[in-house]
Amino acid sequence: MREFTPLQPGRASLYLCGATVQAPPHIGHIRSGVSFDILVRWLRASHYQVTYCRNVTDIDDKILAVAVAEETPWWAVAERNQRAFTRAYDALGCLPPDVEPRATGHVPEMIVLMQRLIDTGHAYPAEGDVYFDVRTFPEYGALSGQRLAHMKAAADTEDNAAKRDPRDFALWKGAKPGEPSWPTPWGPGRPGWHLECSAMSTKYLGPEFDIHGGGLDLIFPHHENEVAQSHAAGDGFARYWLHNGLVRIAGEKMSKSLGNSLLVDAMVTTVRPVELRYYLGQAHYRSEIDYAPAALAEAATAYRRIEGFVTRAAELVGADAVTPDSGSVPAAFAAAMDDDLGVPQALALVHETIREGNAALAVADAGGTAKRLTEARAMLAVLGLDPLGVPWAGGEAGGDLRPVVDALVSVALEQREAARARKDFAAADAIRDQLLAAGVVVEDTLRGPRWELRP
Ligand SMILES: [Zn+2]
Repeated sequence: MREFTPLQPGRASLYLCGATVQAPPHIGHIRSGVSFDILVRWLRASHYQVTYCRNVTDIDDKILAVAVAEETPWWAVAERNQRAFTRAYDALGCLPPDVEPRATGHVPEMIVLMQRLIDTGHAYPAEGDVYFDVRTFPEYGALSGQRLAHMKAAADTEDNAAKRDPRDFALWKGAKPGEPSWPTPWGPGRPGWHLECSAMSTKYLGPEFDIHGGGLDLIFPHHENEVAQSHAAGDGFARYWLHNGLVRIAGEKMSKSLGNSLLVDAMVTTVRPVELRYYLGQAHYRSEIDYAPAALAEAATAYRRIEGFVTRAAELVGADAVTPDSGSVPAAFAAAMDDDLGVPQALALVHETIREGNAALAVADAGGTAKRLTEARAMLAVLGLDPLGVPWAGGEAGGDLRPVVDALVSVALEQREAARARKDFAAADAIRDQLLAAGVVVEDTLRGPRWELRP
């Protein structure tokens, strides 16, 4: 465990390897977005001025393969899937990054980096491709804990004959007929995946920056190669690495055939997005999630418990009086988050606070309720789960129709009150039963009747 010491006091820079946009995202992809969204929120709550850069890989073998199969231009495939990713990030309440650079918009920066590597003897052009010479970089393998002698050939080009060493990896791929290409001093071609991240992180965050993030499956070769390119060129590059665990189904890595039903677009039609966020965010970011519908249902129940308290407490004490302030998170919560983003411990504190809050609510203790509500909302805001915050406010079961349903239920409840006033209890009960049949649960409280949709 290392203390986080930023390059510049009070500032934190973060580069996250984002989407390769050959398909719309499933929950495995979006877990990474949620994990790093929590990190960004916590850094900001800890008063760092954060610069968050998350790239889009919009040119890649897989994108080209989809384009050929669909007989669609490659850029249309990339655009369509990038929109699906943006939709998914927004749906799950991930704050947008400060910059979201696309690989194809940064070819000049890649050419500059390749030139630096060629000039210093770390890279060489060969038959239209440009390769990194791994034997010139003794640190190669250090990030992923491998020795060069044990590594297999880099499987990034079809013909390894052009390489000086089979383990050398492609910085740039020479043009092939029918494929898009950009001109370079070494001939036309297209970016290799690894090069773009070194070029774009340097452009937006500088030659040395604080935190580099990505999925655990990116450590090798992708991040190892990023380190090699940037360090060999003389750049300090990332000071800290954070890798999120993967989402598996029944122990298997999510593949296209297994993962179709777990596309975010499909899932948010059956699960409330905030409950999906709770599910994906609750585990420690480094742990693996083995997807199970029962666990998702449990997460939804846990979130509703939180939401139930926050909603009722705000009704009692008023939501305006308790706008969450990151300064008001309990010290134990801050300590858990500071310890390598200990979200499971942090969430346990949230639930403890909710229990205490419910106890205060039960005896109509407005002071105690307000205190717990303030603490809970401050902690939930850090996790992106404040039911009264953006974007979830008004998003409880019933969604955008809530005000309409509220008005209709109010009409029915007035009729019920009128029936009670004239002691026609049969009519009053019939109204309540009809509402229940329609899925509206009415509860009489000290402050009059309140309703909610039956879960
Ligand atoms: Zn990357």
